[in-house]
Amino acid sequence: MLLVTFEQGQRKRIGILDRPRAEVVDLAVAPGLPRDMQGFIESGDGGLRVAREVLAKAVGRIPVSQVRLMAPVPRPCRNIVCVGKNYREHAAEVRSLTPDQGGDGIPQRPIFFTKATSSVIGSDQPIPGWLDPTQSVDYEGELAVVLGIGGRGISARDVWRHVYGYTILNDVTSRKMQRSHQQWYLGKSLDGFCPMGPALVTADEVPDPTRLRVQTRVNGELRQDATLSELIFAIPELIETLSGSMTLEAGDIVATGTPAGVGMGFKPPRYLNRGDRVAVTIEPIGTLRNTVA
Ligand code: MG
Repeated sequence: MLLVTFEQGQRKRIGILDRPRAEVVDLAVAPGLPRDMQGFIESGDGGLRVAREVLAKAVGRIPVSQVRLMAPVPRPCRNIVCVGKNYREHAAEVRSLTPDQGGDGIPQRPIFFTKATSSVIGSDQPIPGWLDPTQSVDYEGELAVVLGIGGRGISARDVWRHVYGYTILNDVTSRKMQRSHQQWYLGKSLDGFCPMGPALVTADEVPDPTRLRVQTRVNGELRQDATLSELIFAIPELIETLSGSMTLEAGDIVATGTPAGVGMGFKPPRYLNRGDRVAVTIEPIGTLRNTVA
């Protein structure tokens, strides 16, 4: 299922996106279900079972054109965890951003950082590029993992039991702030610098995440194109490493890193300008589209 958070009028609800029919199934028709995505994720398999029953009936259907899709988790409970330099070619193109770890720019262990929850916006919402005083706004198309069951000390082979689903995330970054502040939180946490969506696909629809393909286009030009099989640190290793240090919780979001082809990798850099259209596609989730304002 493709789960979405949407707004109709002033009312915010959760639903299932039926892409072939261009409809949203409003889960508010099921009285027992939580009203927001965080609560729905916490309801686990029970919630999913009820949602499937709703989907099978012809009830609660609204044309997508009549709603506004938001980020699937519009305001996560905790910061979004991100991974730096998790594709080899990308590590090479952004070598200058951290001290060289292994001589070849390839990290020996995952580099984790976070983005503030307040940076999250949905698909089709503008990225407020004007907030970056250094005018070095860059895109990073990524697959993000959404956890369904938390835990500490999760072993790599148990990780899939904890994965609820996947979404698309654009780890928008002020490159000059990222470099000048010597760490990445500030330059990656500007308001609106974390587009996410348009949907959250449940894990049962992704039998092999390594086959997922990330493609980022800027004004229609293909800039990034890679599959998750190219990750230096794969999803099980990322979750095992994180949960070895901290207790992970339902609804935690872990972005897996971006492939080569970011704007700063070009000479000269090709940063985003006002009016640029960024589209990150990962099927079966869809395309996350945002225009720079
Ligand atoms: Mg990133």
